Amino acid sequence: MINALTVDLEDWYHICGTEDNAAPSKWAEYESRVTRNTETVLSILKAYDTKATFFILGYIAEKEPDLISAIHKEGHELAIHGYYHRRLFELSREEFEEDVRKSIDVVTAITGEKVLGYRAPEWSIRNNTLWALGVLKKLGIMYDSSMVPLTRMGERNFGLYPHTIKTEYGDILEFPLTTMRFFWENLPFTGGLPLRIAPYWYTLSKLKWMNKRYGQSGLVYVHPWEFDNEHPEIDLPLSRKFMHYFRMTTTRPKIEGLLKHLKFGPIRNVLAL
Ligand SMILES: [Zn+2]
Repeated sequence: MINALTVDLEDWYHICGTEDNAAPSKWAEYESRVTRNTETVLSILKAYDTKATFFILGYIAEKEPDLISAIHKEGHELAIHGYYHRRLFELSREEFEEDVRKSIDVVTAITGEKVLGYRAPEWSIRNNTLWALGVLKKLGIMYDSSMVPLTRMGERNFGLYPHTIKTEYGDILEFPLTTMRFFWENLPFTGGLPLRIAPYWYTLSKLKWMNKRYGQSGLVYVHPWEFDNEHPEIDLPLSRKFMHYFRMTTTRPKIEGLLKHLKFGPIRNVLAL
């Protein structure tokens, strides 16, 4: 049983919903730390002989083609995380299609390999943005990994495990964020702030239980900036500050522990594509 390990390849200032502080027009002013931080992630993956799926921001691929090439050469899967890190409900259907197409083109030009997967910034496929799945399929994307079966972050009625969804352009696979039932809600615990908050033993035992009890693979996600305890902080609203910076130092030991005790691979392997 392998679980999916995913890296959302973005820099420390790619924060959604903070247009005043971190708009794309300001990005050029910020120090780029993505190469150094991604090298840290790559060295950890190498040490544990593990391959992952990297969801690449088109903006980064355009600026740092050598980094993208290095990830590809290490044998990891390259997928798409949008171009400007904009959430789907901020885009029209046409703008979304353009954003994804542009990202696919940049990444494909570097690797020469077909891109299979997509993840929306901030998991922003919701009931009112489900049209995006048809657009992805139209662009040749085989799977999406953006749906969260959780109120507010996503929709409670979304599927819990990998499944197929029909679109006007044919079926697309969905690998949703892993959650665990906790009273009336499904709680995330395998990446970002939820991983940093959850006790390590909880994450490990729940993933093991899910593998054994349901025969289902879990989905773990990290960001390169979570491995950088010294990145500059943007002045954010309190809730965003908490989400972005709280218990940052716990990411690395938790991920290394999971890599030691469970088997991981890229999504294309887990879904046998
Ligand atoms: Zn992101």
